[in-house]
Amino acid sequence: MTHVYLGLGSNLEVPIEKLRVARNEIATASGISEIRFSSLYRSPPMGSENQPDYINAVMAIETDLSPLELLATTQKIENENGRIRSERWGARTLDIDILLFGDEVLNFSKLIVPHYGIAERAFVLYPLFEIAPDLNIPERGKLADLITDFPLSGLERLSDVA
Ligand code: ATP
Ligand code: CA
Ligand code: CA
Repeated sequence: MTHVYLGLGSNLEVPIEKLRVARNEIATASGISEIRFSSLYRSPPMGSENQPDYINAVMAIETDLSPLELLATTQKIENENGRIRSERWGARTLDIDILLFGDEVLNFSKLIVPHYGIAERAFVLYPLFEIAPDLNIPERGKLADLITDFPLSGLERLSDVA
């Protein structure tokens, strides 16, 4: 079993509801069990600002899937939830990023782990810190150090449950 952290985001079609559905589908997918789920956070969009705010959360799971099997599962859930795959960072109904896969460092063409943006995004760092304050991120260092003085960049914590 591997301890994995997923980053969830949505900014279209009732995002809070999308994250609730995504959480449920991930937690009940074959080979996956939920460990923790962060509060929901609202964050301004990256890239094109001509789109609604995002709702983000981080989910800790345990899985016996391989990294690429897990990616296939999360992409299937994205697609079933009407993911619009147009421009990177464009508006979308559901985005699921694999932030960490145990302490593994992976460089597949389809899957880079740790996720390349993990240490540079408030909407990842703060929810991650909420559920795993002692985390050590491969190649980046201690989460507690990374988050020190890290700007909130408009991030706002919403609630305790999805
Ligand atoms: P960003 O990657 O900057 O957060 P994004 O989430 O909008 O942007 P996507 O369009 O969702 O980007 O993903 C593009 C590709 O990234 C996916 O098809 C997937 O193969 C690849 N990818 C590489 N590493 C990861 C990872 N750790 N988690 C999810 N997808 C990844
Ligand atoms: Ca993403
Ligand atoms: Ca993604």
